[in-house]
Amino acid sequence: MNILLIGPQGSGKGTQADLLAPKFNLIKIATGDLFRSAMASGSQLGESVRRYYDQGELVPDDVTLSVVAERLDSIGEDGVAGAIFDGFPRNLAQAAGLDEALASRTLRVDHVIELVVPEDVLVNRLSGRRVCSKCGAVYHTEFQPPRSENVCDVCGGELIQRADDTPDAIQRRLKLYSEQTAPLLDYYRPRGVLQQIDGNRPIEEVQRDLEAAVVEPANA
Ligand code: AMP
Repeated sequence: MNILLIGPQGSGKGTQADLLAPKFNLIKIATGDLFRSAMASGSQLGESVRRYYDQGELVPDDVTLSVVAERLDSIGEDGVAGAIFDGFPRNLAQAAGLDEALASRTLRVDHVIELVVPEDVLVNRLSGRRVCSKCGAVYHTEFQPPRSENVCDVCGGELIQRADDTPDAIQRRLKLYSEQTAPLLDYYRPRGVLQQIDGNRPIEEVQRDLEAAVVEPANA
């Protein structure tokens, strides 16, 4: 089973993907996470994506697609039942590339879930977001503060603001979402795989609906 989570930055895709993946034996393919770890490791890939990332611009499609294709090869190995995609595809070219990459492995997109959250809530979530520089745990200054200021509850690492969570980059990313990613909804809708979930609710409620959505056939 392969599931796409679609929604603007801050809609909770990463949080929900982390919760869903282990329940259904899925690997999480989050291109943003893959780019962040490439940058942290100082690899050539990391250096080549940094200038796009820091500006809140999209990394070129060929680079993004090759990173994803590599991860698809683990589906079917060691009990991996499929993938849940977070932050990919981000435009029509990537969606078409994903279809091709899945088809060549006799796989397909089974569910597309849109997480719907109003823009003012997104801006608030993103501007207060802090992440652990060591383990990647995510906090919010107001809604989910760490026990001690700027220190990760999990590993004691320093909490930082993502380079692309600045006001300018947030605006650019939300604009890119509505221009390039939102049209994907029309791409998937005719296939009967698309469902919408209200993402402006507590994490557990969103999670419950998401699980129900992928257990029942999308077009039932
Ligand atoms: P995210 O963690 O999903 O918000 O992604 C952070 C940044 O990584 C984006 O602003 C882009 O610079 C880059 N990125 C992540 N996913 C993609 C993608 N599918 N296509 C192009 N760039 C991406």
